[in-house]
Amino acid sequence: MNKGKLTSKLKDLRQRHKTSLSLSTATIIENESGYIVPSSSTHETYLIQENNTNCSCKLICTDCSNICIHNYSCTCLDASVKRNMCKHIHLVCRHKFEVAQAESLNTNNSSSLQSDLLIDEDETRTIEADIITELCKKKLKSL
Ligand SMILES: [Zn+2]
Ligand SMILES: [Zn+2]
Ligand SMILES: [Zn+2]
Repeated sequence: MNKGKLTSKLKDLRQRHKTSLSLSTATIIENESGYIVPSSSTHETYLIQENNTNCSCKLICTDCSNICIHNYSCTCLDASVKRNMCKHIHLVCRHKFEVAQAESLNTNNSSSLQSDLLIDEDETRTIEADIITELCKKKLKSL
């Protein structure tokens, strides 16, 4: 019984995740109390807040780094009344992921200044690439 309930809840969760993909992370406003997301159908705005809980329940979104409803709260009906992980929460997770990704790209750029130290590693890679090119040529000839 419980397992079936969980499966249908997870199905709902996936559906909301899909819906969240049609929303733009550019509409998110970050402030000191949390994330503000405008409603897609009304003029309302919702406040999404992060909770510092170490929850281990099974109702998680694997596409949102395994977060569950208890990790976030949202002021919309879907989350505050129906206790669902609403599309706004999925959207905020995507936003956070995009920010983290942009930051890691920036750090990669600045670390490229130290690339001189990594010459050895790069050379081995070039050799590997040459071998692959040779193999490809051989394969092409044999065709
Ligand atoms: Zn939970
Ligand atoms: Zn919401
Ligand atoms: Zn999600």
